[in-house]
Amino acid sequence: MKRILITGAAGFLGSHLCDRFIKEGFKVIGMDNLITGDLKNIEHLFKTEHFEFYNHDVSKFVHVPGKLDYILHFASPASPIDYLKIPIQTLKVGSLGTHNLLGLAKEKNARILIASTSEVYGDPLVHPQTEDYYGNVNTIGPRGVYDEAKRFQESITMAYHTYHGVETRIVRIFNTYGPRMRLNDGRVVPAFIGQALRGEDLTIFGDGLQTRSFCYVDDQVEGIYRLLFSDYIYPVNIGNPDEITIKDFAEEIIKLTGTEQKVIYKDLPVNDPLQRQPDIFRAKTILGWEPQVNRSEGMKKTLEYFKNFSSEELQKSEHRDFLKK
Ligand code: UDP
Repeated sequence: MKRILITGAAGFLGSHLCDRFIKEGFKVIGMDNLITGDLKNIEHLFKTEHFEFYNHDVSKFVHVPGKLDYILHFASPASPIDYLKIPIQTLKVGSLGTHNLLGLAKEKNARILIASTSEVYGDPLVHPQTEDYYGNVNTIGPRGVYDEAKRFQESITMAYHTYHGVETRIVRIFNTYGPRMRLNDGRVVPAFIGQALRGEDLTIFGDGLQTRSFCYVDDQVEGIYRLLFSDYIYPVNIGNPDEITIKDFAEEIIKLTGTEQKVIYKDLPVNDPLQRQPDIFRAKTILGWEPQVNRSEGMKKTLEYFKNFSSEELQKSEHRDFLKK
């Protein structure tokens, strides 16, 4: 049986990856320190003997007994609210954590795929973003701790590949949504859905003309799965190129939830990228991958998930925009 270590296993993407690899017949070793992850996301896996869990911070030396065939490094805070609350941990998990996992991959002769992000492009000046674009990042802005950790992560990963011959893969993940997003993580999808379900107005930051391109989680997982088993060592964008302004997105959520909510405008957070859209030519040609789930279908499934929360849970997770002073 092939053995795979998945860091960030209790997080949004990590937990979906655990599900996928269990389904594919792998022995999955999940690791998470639960600062932004939630055991609820993987509770259902504890009953299978093919799943094991370590509560560990990968910024510290990582030891896993036995052989390892693959490592997926998905541990990291991934929302602007989290970077502001835990900036040092964000830097450490992307840098020291990645170093530890690359060392483990070398030791175990395992192939490692690391989760990078569209944030390496910063507030991009090239549109759509191709993998060849070097980006436009403010190193000392509120997002710098995440963006720079992820850029360092890519560099050290390539260095382990070229210097130590470790088998590495790099995925650049664009905005992804679906069940198991944290209701109060500040990201726009759970924020808007939470507000609509609580009967609050939807908060648009800035004029709402900034764009994002939202990828449903099942598509994202499929892209990552294909990349891991490909022989391509350079970064690959995985995301849905269907771009929408945040203002239009708010209207879509209002229609979808059938609520009477209005939108209200608040200040745009510092360094909030104005336009974001993946160029997925590489993923299409190299992995034969493209998204299959359109936004209306994906959002319906996501809404169903959030409707399961009790009104008490919904109230507790009231959306707070930490980003503005
Ligand atoms: N956003 C918004 N209202 C909210 C939360 C987010 O208008 O309540 C905006 C945010 O300013 C950004 C976009 O939605 O322009 C996506 O934000 P998110 O945090 O989901 O992702 P990221 O900015 O990292 O792409």
